[in-house]
Amino acid sequence: MTDSSTHLLSHLLIVLVETSHPGNIGSTARAMKNMGLKRLALVAPREFPHEEATALAAGADDVLAEARVFDTLDDAIAPCHLVFGTTARPRHNEAPSLTPRDAAAMVLREAYLGLNVALVFGTERTGLTNAELDRCRHAVRIPANPEFSSLNLAQAVQVLTYELRLASLELVEPDLPSEPRDLASAGDFEGFMGHLERTLGLIDFYKGREYTRLLQRFRRLYQRAALDRQEVQLLRGMLAEAERAARIAAATRNPPGSV
Ligand code: SAH
Repeated sequence: MTDSSTHLLSHLLIVLVETSHPGNIGSTARAMKNMGLKRLALVAPREFPHEEATALAAGADDVLAEARVFDTLDDAIAPCHLVFGTTARPRHNEAPSLTPRDAAAMVLREAYLGLNVALVFGTERTGLTNAELDRCRHAVRIPANPEFSSLNLAQAVQVLTYELRLASLELVEPDLPSEPRDLASAGDFEGFMGHLERTLGLIDFYKGREYTRLLQRFRRLYQRAALDRQEVQLLRGMLAEAERAARIAAATRNPPGSV
């Protein structure tokens, strides 16, 4: 294993969302450390720190000690350029799902190019919500028994991190492109999506209709484009002009002082 693949694995971020059982947090830390991962983020865990987490970490206490706790998934992934969401169930709004093997190859390639990559795992009983999965550019599904497809949370983390380790062993560095792209972070992307939602309202794009699905389609479209930071700026510049034009049009229709 080369130094750089060790380094790549240690930079990947595992995110657990609203974990109910502290034991699963401990088992996740152990699974991660076994495979050479270190960075753990916990979004609103029910109980943490907790003695069961420490017991099941079985020596991966350093991963737990350095775990960062966030209130929301958006906060946890804000600096990440590429976010993968894991799910046992297929969802109607899901991006095409990848196997852990294909996802691992993609993760390693992007991490090699210097991007911050996160893998997100849902809560034990219900998994990631649709809104949480929407935040992820790619969905990853372990192709388990279709009649019994939901793995224990930490075991799902183990499968994914094992594939990451295998992919890191197979990483052939000279084959990889060397030009890193200045990809937009999840935080930049959410800023753009919020701006788009407001501007579409201002130009009356929704015509009073419910627009959740519409925004989801825009989200998928722009996620597929893997925007870089300049492209996000360009699109936001266009939105700002549309907002300005809509305000001028509104003021012309209703000049100040008119009734
Ligand atoms: N019913 C939930 C399962 C929750 S299990 C669902 O449909 O997703 C808790 C977490 O473990 C999931 O949110 C996911 O992150 C991971 N997980 C469990 N089984 C998985 C599978 N077959 N493929 C990918 N991730 C899985």
